[in-house]
Amino acid sequence: MRKNKSGYRCSFCGRDKTEALLLIAGIDGHICEVCVEQAQEILEEELYGGKGDNAQSGNGGGKKKKKSAEFRLPKNTTPLSLKEHLDQYVIGQDEAKKYLSVAVYNHYKRLSQPESEDGVEIEKSNILFVGSTGTGKTLMARTIARHLNVPFSIVDATVFTEAGYVGEDVESILSRLLQVCDFDVDAAQKGIVYIDEIDKIARKSDNPSITRDVSGEGVQQGMLKMLEGTEVAVPPQGGRKHPEQKLVKVDTRDILFICGGAFDGIEKLIARRVNTQVIGFSGKAEDSLRMTEKENLIRYVTHKDLKAFGLIPELIGRLPVLTHLEPLDKETLRLILTEPKNALVKQYKKLFALEGIELNFTDDVLDLIAEKALEFKIGARGLRSICEAIMTDAMFSLPSQKDIKTFTVTKDYALEKMDKSLMSRLKAA
Ligand code: ADP
Repeated sequence: MRKNKSGYRCSFCGRDKTEALLLIAGIDGHICEVCVEQAQEILEEELYGGKGDNAQSGNGGGKKKKKSAEFRLPKNTTPLSLKEHLDQYVIGQDEAKKYLSVAVYNHYKRLSQPESEDGVEIEKSNILFVGSTGTGKTLMARTIARHLNVPFSIVDATVFTEAGYVGEDVESILSRLLQVCDFDVDAAQKGIVYIDEIDKIARKSDNPSITRDVSGEGVQQGMLKMLEGTEVAVPPQGGRKHPEQKLVKVDTRDILFICGGAFDGIEKLIARRVNTQVIGFSGKAEDSLRMTEKENLIRYVTHKDLKAFGLIPELIGRLPVLTHLEPLDKETLRLILTEPKNALVKQYKKLFALEGIELNFTDDVLDLIAEKALEFKIGARGLRSICEAIMTDAMFSLPSQKDIKTFTVTKDYALEKMDKSLMSRLKAA
């Protein structure tokens, strides 16, 4: 066993315990994670002729490392093809899809360019989605990442606090990303991170100097460098950094950050701004108010409104692509039930088909589900709970009734099941 003053060493490369992420103990020696990965590569090379494509490369270097470092967009990718892919999974939200497709396309085009000699450097295009909960923000980010086959992680901005306070360090935003790609740093450095609830770290008051705002402005400040692109020392398991912990260096220059938030109440700020402009122009305050009240104001959101909401200008500047998601109306909710590639109705049909039962929904049931989701104001996420309320009894009893080969969900059946379930309580609330 090789040991020095500070503790154990890897018996293969001699790395000290403090330099390695992990030292695995054997009978009479230790091995570090880098050597394990290299040994894995040697095995693949020797046993399978180096064709182990699904093995993730690590920090250990060698051929594989190069492979994950070279990112290429799927063949024939264009912003249009990206949007068409999104269309298969996300209903409506055309504008957000267009913005996302262009930003993602430019971002990965930028990565696949060699260092430019003309001095023109394309800047990163981090994205900010503004839209109520359950309108498809996370779904869009996840769908695009899956299509590009890049590591993707979701973090919630609310768990972070300024360094030194109870909560997580902002650096742990990247821990999850490292975890999803088995600590392949090169792959993580080309990944996409979705930061949810970014609106919840808005500055609490207009005057920053009154009290410390450790979970608001402090966190925003902490995120600036990371969003722009820098080397970040990441605690591999997330949480708070502490002195004895080994940290993994991640360069965020090529990581695409997509932030999303509902920004509840921003409509008022938008209305105020739009109205002042219109009043200034026509002089008729009542007309302008009437005009804006009727419309979905979110579509007029600008960086100025985000500042008024409490995001600091430096953060807004690092999220140059700003777009909104429309609230879902009944028609869209109904389409979400049936149209996407993995639509809920398709999923239930498949589940029943596995039992040898053909499942059908009458049209008015689909209308009813969409209406209820709208009525309860639970967005598309609520469609699932409503469907579960309707379908649970059938899913419970039908698999043991072998003689039933078709099952049709009618409006009366759905109403009866919904009345029996938690849905009725939701209505009362
Ligand atoms: P959020 O905007 O809060 O991030 P999500 O993207 O997590 O919302 O949406 C929750 C769920 O609702 C998704 O998993 C998806 O099933 C469904 N959904 C929401 N919006 C849409 C949409 N526009 N098209 C298809 N499904 C949607």
